[in-house]
Amino acid sequence: MTVRAVYRHVDWRLTVDPNDDRPQYTAKCMTCGDIAELSFRKAAPEVWCLRHARRTGHQRFCTGALSFLIATCADR
Ligand SMILES: [Zn+2]
Repeated sequence: MTVRAVYRHVDWRLTVDPNDDRPQYTAKCMTCGDIAELSFRKAAPEVWCLRHARRTGHQRFCTGALSFLIATCADR
């Protein structure tokens, strides 16, 4: 009998990154893919969308908050 692979179960977990524990907001233009810089201010991406629309005529955007996580291996 030949062993082709050895599988080892390892637990991983996600925790909030202590260096980035506040959510940041951004927006993306759905027409050209341009992305607003991350901001701690919720209104900043909305202002970016309006400026981008005025400059380009693009009208569709997605926006949201990003949380930053760290994946750590339980065996380390
Ligand atoms: Zn655009």
